[in-house]
Amino acid sequence: MLGIYIHIPFCLRRCNYCNFCSSVADSGRISDYVAALIKSIGTYAGMGLRADTVYLGGGTPSLLTASQMAEILETVYKTFAVSDNAEITSEANPGTVTLEKLRAYSEAGVNRVSFGIQSCKDNELYRLGRLHNFSQAEEAVGLAHLAGIANVSADIMIGIPEQTKASLAETVERVTALGVSHVSAYMLKIEEGTPFDCESIRRSAADDDTVADMYLMTAEMLSQRGFEQYEISNFAKKGFESQHNLKYWNCEEYLGFGPSAHSYFGGKRFYVPDDIGAFIKTSGSVTEIEDVSPNRLEEYIMLGLRLCKGISLDKVISLGGNAEALLRAVEPYARIGLASVSDGVLSLTRSGFLVSNGIIGRLI
Ligand code: SF4
Repeated sequence: MLGIYIHIPFCLRRCNYCNFCSSVADSGRISDYVAALIKSIGTYAGMGLRADTVYLGGGTPSLLTASQMAEILETVYKTFAVSDNAEITSEANPGTVTLEKLRAYSEAGVNRVSFGIQSCKDNELYRLGRLHNFSQAEEAVGLAHLAGIANVSADIMIGIPEQTKASLAETVERVTALGVSHVSAYMLKIEEGTPFDCESIRRSAADDDTVADMYLMTAEMLSQRGFEQYEISNFAKKGFESQHNLKYWNCEEYLGFGPSAHSYFGGKRFYVPDDIGAFIKTSGSVTEIEDVSPNRLEEYIMLGLRLCKGISLDKVISLGGNAEALLRAVEPYARIGLASVSDGVLSLTRSGFLVSNGIIGRLI
């Protein structure tokens, strides 16, 4: 079954590290965008497609009014046969939600909310350019629970300028104490052209070894608190893994709507150009082909090794790969504890995840 991704490219303000497709916009532009989005989703009507995950990401989907959220999800339900137990996630920023809005989102079908909390330290949030403080984040998670949305995820960030191991440990402690069921822990990457892309930020950011220590500490603390790691950056209480994101890593099909959204559908990979104005004008009818016939073996290795469960050597063979050559290539990494091979499954260890791009590059 398909996953449906819907991009909402608007934020109240741009954060200092962000290079996602989003802009600051007034309510008129957001309405025009929602109208274009609805047309774009509707083009798949009548095709008999079934979906079991819907994910509204951004940007800041929680800037949508209750009626815009309901309208978008109604269009999804009319266009696709969405299963009764589908996972329907909306990303949200603390400070942009109220109990009333979250109740309305829940009535529209949202049953999972992912909050960009990032840190429990207000000075770190300020450095990131986030608009919320930690007490607003605490309140937002409580409101989601009150609105009947039990499945709440929190993003936290590793490597924020001036962050220390102690402040990160406090973030893990306080965020997990909020009763969330899922945590994504991302390492800050300084993206070209963002306000963070400057010498003073590079100087104040932790070095690679410290960030590696912080990552390992975070993973260990989360596992001690019952959040099992299932992907490089993702940790969940049992049964609360993100079903939508798992589709990407398991090479399953998904359709993405909105500028910069990618799709893997009908054996092809394609995407909508990263231009909000053009999307509104054309209702997303313009897409660019990324790959007409993706190399399924390479994708299986590349995406599967992001997962703790790793990749099956039988599957590698069934996709036309050479399992023996793969084992020979991985042997030096296994010897130093970065990878492991057991019962026909090849996976990276936590330390291996820290250098996964290099290892995967050597294997494919
Ligand atoms: S809220 Fe998220 S998408 Fe918006 S600018 Fe900040 S990091 Fe980027």
